[in-house]
Amino acid sequence: MRLFTPFHMNSTGLGRERLRAAGVKLPADEEILTGAAFRERYLLPLARLEELSGVVVEGARVIAIARDGFTKARTGSRAGSPFLLRIQGARDARLERADAVIDASGVYATPNATGPSGLPADGEERIQEHLESHLPDLPGEARPRYAGRRILLVGDGRSAATAVADLDELVRSGGEGAKTRVDWVHRARGGSAFAPIPRTELEQLPVLRELDQRAGRIVRESSWLRRHEGATILAYRAIPSGAIEVTLSDPPGKERRFEVDRVLALVGYRPDLSLFRELQIHLCYASEGPMALAAAILGAQGSDPASGKGCLDQVAHGPESLKNPEPDFYVLGAKSYGRNPNFLLSLGHRQIEDVMTLLGAAEPRLNAAAR
Ligand SMILES: Cc1cc2nc3c(=O)[nH]c(=O)nc-3n(C[C@H](O)[C@H](O)[C@H](O)COP(=O)(O)OP(=O)(O)OC[C@H]3O[C@@H](n4cnc5c(N)ncnc54)[C@H](O)[C@@H]3O)c2cc1C
Repeated sequence: MRLFTPFHMNSTGLGRERLRAAGVKLPADEEILTGAAFRERYLLPLARLEELSGVVVEGARVIAIARDGFTKARTGSRAGSPFLLRIQGARDARLERADAVIDASGVYATPNATGPSGLPADGEERIQEHLESHLPDLPGEARPRYAGRRILLVGDGRSAATAVADLDELVRSGGEGAKTRVDWVHRARGGSAFAPIPRTELEQLPVLRELDQRAGRIVRESSWLRRHEGATILAYRAIPSGAIEVTLSDPPGKERRFEVDRVLALVGYRPDLSLFRELQIHLCYASEGPMALAAAILGAQGSDPASGKGCLDQVAHGPESLKNPEPDFYVLGAKSYGRNPNFLLSLGHRQIEDVMTLLGAAEPRLNAAAR
């Protein structure tokens, strides 16, 4: 899918400088790339830079992190001890030591559940092969899984709006695509279909403005889309025909059942807290982001979730906000926001600069505008 921020917001001056010096032709500052093109034209060339040779370990996964010689409960001079990381490679697991750890593992590996009040619906674990929780490439690779099928779409954020726009293309493309039918379960929002996009974002990010208008129009005009506003998903049951029987509770509390072939659940993500379970991390009780940063975010935008503040209103809160009770352990990127979805790549770039000053690898920035 297309990113909604232009290339200059998704890259850093330092990154662009290094790539130009290496002879890489970069996108224009205002260019809107797809996620795939951003990876191909910026992230992969960065990872291949000569100065990073031997540093990037591909095909490896950090399973758990601890402080060498300490259990979670043991206090004392943890700062003097290295971290111990269990790393799963393609063939075997190994232990590595590190003086500092930056956990920038994002949130996409742990999607939210689709049932009542954040719980899984009954039977949700048993229909996983029919359920997707990431935006599929509907015009491309995912087309055969969706064309002509009965789909349950869950969620009302930007990903759900993008899915509605892509499903509209699929239906218009004719052939099997024209037979696609969608049941859409989303929160009651007093008549509006999708979660409102903050005004600053609509004004400054044309991709979001177009998406908002287009998805709204499709919802009003399309006969292939049936809305279940404010309904709760109670249960899924795989039936012998290979379909899924879905049980919903409509707002007056009336149950209704229908069959679908696939579930597309775009209901957000949460951080995987198991990685640092052995460390001393103080987490926010609401967002599951590290407490110091969560408190700074809350202080800046107030506790009213309806304040209308979105990702463009976010600011970096400086190095102190990134510190944890566990010395030299930092959570950066989307994971640092926990369940709060208002994260942008540009914020992550500032966090990295801040952590580098804490690690003594860079001078503190005096002029925030220079970032
Ligand atoms: C549909 C969609 C569109 C978006 N569009 C934009 C946009 O236009 N602009 C914008 O600024 N933001 C956008 N965002 C938000 C964007 O995803 C984040 O800003 C950005 O990806 C966060 O980067 P990150 O590095 O923190 O996490 P990620 O991009 O999720 O990267 C985390 C990485 O860590 C790896 N990883 C996870 N666990 C482990 C482990 N245990 N061991 C080793 N590696 C691990 C993952 O494989 C992944 O490569 C969008 C999000 C979505 C869902």
